[in-house]
Amino acid sequence: PRPGTSPVLQAWVNDIERRARTRLGMGRIADYIPALANQDPACFGLAVCTNDGNLYMAGDAEIPFSIQSLSKVLLLSLALRTHGDGLWRRVGLNPSGMPFNSLMQLETEQGKPRNPFINAGAIVVADHLVGAFATPAKHLQDIARTLSGNPRVLIDHEVLASEWGHRARNAAAAYLMKAFGNLYNEVDEVLTAYFACCALRMSCADLAVALNYLAADGRALTTGEPFVPPAMAQRINALMFTSGMYDAAGDFAYRVGLPAKSGVGGGIVAIVPGRLSVCAWSPALDASGNSVAAQYALELIAEDLGRWHQAPL
Ligand code: GLU
Repeated sequence: PRPGTSPVLQAWVNDIERRARTRLGMGRIADYIPALANQDPACFGLAVCTNDGNLYMAGDAEIPFSIQSLSKVLLLSLALRTHGDGLWRRVGLNPSGMPFNSLMQLETEQGKPRNPFINAGAIVVADHLVGAFATPAKHLQDIARTLSGNPRVLIDHEVLASEWGHRARNAAAAYLMKAFGNLYNEVDEVLTAYFACCALRMSCADLAVALNYLAADGRALTTGEPFVPPAMAQRINALMFTSGMYDAAGDFAYRVGLPAKSGVGGGIVAIVPGRLSVCAWSPALDASGNSVAAQYALELIAEDLGRWHQAPL
């Protein structure tokens, strides 16, 4: 990717930043682990990566933050790439309508998580990868580096340790799935891999570039090679559309209408298939766990894209 060449689009991205910053006083920073609680609520970053390789940035677009649940998209892509559709015997495809860390359905649905974007689902995906790679988290880190073109993408060990120290609920989900026979490897090993992926630090620019393959029929921007087949990219987008925004996926679909995935670090990635990928970030979250200012930025972008339908984005 190169710095965006269109002054019109750069001015547009700057304007979205300015308007989204008016929402900065709203929401709460995730505090379930100490390592996230000290994020600066005044941060706001935005990066738009067009499929022809132009990258438009505004605000804190190059500050790395904890990607948290955004890693679930990379985990899923990697698992589908290596194992194909067999994964769907162990994880469902439907919205859960429950908080991302809920245990209720796991008990009533025999240890099969509703979808790969709730914690239990991503833990099954991580289990898949623990079985396939000697060092799954490092493998994901390497993939994040390659896809973003940034060799400085890193796992944050303070966040990892903090997640581990507060693992009770994720551990409960993992043990419940193990009891139902839906977790093949050791719980501790799977949880470590899962937390390490959540603890990756990337910037808006890194994420918009790295996940551009979802806007480009599966082809990675940095390598020019297919990362996932076109049909798989389409299906991942479908899952993001239905389950990417915690239990507010329906609200977000109504307001924005784009496949998107959110993380409790305050990042949201949204995809405009065939055209571009966007990442917006600001740490303060609404009651569903989605960044207030980042959601607003995406709402403004979606509104303008409708109006700019013919624009050469
Ligand atoms: N590491 C977090 C957890 O498993 C992920 C939270 C999120 O971004 O949804 O609790």
